[in-house]
Amino acid sequence: APAPPPAQHLFSDPAEVEALRGKLLAWYDRCKRDLPWRALAATEPDADRRGYAVWVSEIMLQQTQVATVIDYYNRWMQKWPTLQALAQASLEEVNELWAGLGYYSRGKRLQEAARKVVSELAGQMPRTAEELQKLLPGVGRYTAGAIASISYGQATGVVDGNVIRVLCRLRCIGADSSSPAVIDRLWDMANVLVDRSRPGDFNQALMELGATVCMPKAPLCGECPVKQQCQAWRRVSLSPGATVALVFAGVGDCPLCPPATEPWDSSLGVTNFPRKAAKKPPRAMRTATCVLERRGCHGAPEYLIVQRPSSGLLAGLWEFPSLPLAQHLQEEKEREELADHLQAWMGRPVAAKGLRFIGEVIHIFSHIHQTYVVYSLHLDGDVTLDPALSPSRWVTEDEFHASAVSTAMKKV
Ligand code: SF4
Repeated sequence: APAPPPAQHLFSDPAEVEALRGKLLAWYDRCKRDLPWRALAATEPDADRRGYAVWVSEIMLQQTQVATVIDYYNRWMQKWPTLQALAQASLEEVNELWAGLGYYSRGKRLQEAARKVVSELAGQMPRTAEELQKLLPGVGRYTAGAIASISYGQATGVVDGNVIRVLCRLRCIGADSSSPAVIDRLWDMANVLVDRSRPGDFNQALMELGATVCMPKAPLCGECPVKQQCQAWRRVSLSPGATVALVFAGVGDCPLCPPATEPWDSSLGVTNFPRKAAKKPPRAMRTATCVLERRGCHGAPEYLIVQRPSSGLLAGLWEFPSLPLAQHLQEEKEREELADHLQAWMGRPVAAKGLRFIGEVIHIFSHIHQTYVVYSLHLDGDVTLDPALSPSRWVTEDEFHASAVSTAMKKV
């Protein structure tokens, strides 16, 4: 069996845990940001509505900044104030409201889960983290813990990116923070730490600390309410001659210490933690896209958009007709392939030379470095499109912006 981790990695002293809880909650009460979902969770008497509001906010906040989410959240809650209302929405409406927020499958899954709660669970949200995770599609361990603790007061911890950073610094955890062994240990720690009487506030406080004080690159340790409990801070604050028995690198086979090959780097201070294995570089993709334009009946230009398939990347969203390209094709070849694609689809000849090259647009999805090679083509008269290939429609520029289109297409 592996040796137990050194005490510096644990929260084994009850007095220290109590002190940390008290300081963190007092700081949260004083300094927390005013956010609409927090206000609703604190004042709404209906538990199902609290659960729904926290759920929506947590799904929107995955991979997305708070400042961006606020407006989307407010519009969403205005349009679908309850689970029941959301269950009746169409995917098209969901995608339209979600447009620009990214990671579109989140909205789709939220709506599918709302339908499930209404049709299979008699409209009542599950009340524990275990059941939320088991019964709701798209609800993982973190989201389940957040909903259960914030909405229903279950004393269960949460671990997200902010919590990982704070806990790794508090306990000098320098092993790869994305490894299952470390993640398991952080969940154990979060469950030990969570305040039994105010679990939702405690979890939000820990995340808030990570978002506003214990930030990735420039943490504000001087203002931190729990610096006395922070091993990383103690490490950088020690006078050079101090003889405190803290060991920081590669102790035996400690699964939580930094590897002996990458010891503590004093120039990094507390940002030595957390450590992550190097990310895989994003996959490069190239896509030809054509802005087809015609004069609409009132003389204003109209553009053709087509709907993407209902699964996969950007499922169900609308885009200009597009065609994935092989890498390293000659420009002439790219143009020919796009012309062939449009021709098959419109059932009439499209000359490659008629396609006007506009430029290239780069958009980074989480795991894809996408380059759109943009062409345009003006059409005279009407075009009949093969409806078997994909749904399509002509839109004005305003209609385009109000449609369920991705940020990448808006750039195009
Ligand atoms: Fe983070 Fe610094 Fe606070 Fe430690 S003292 S938790 S490193 S902000």
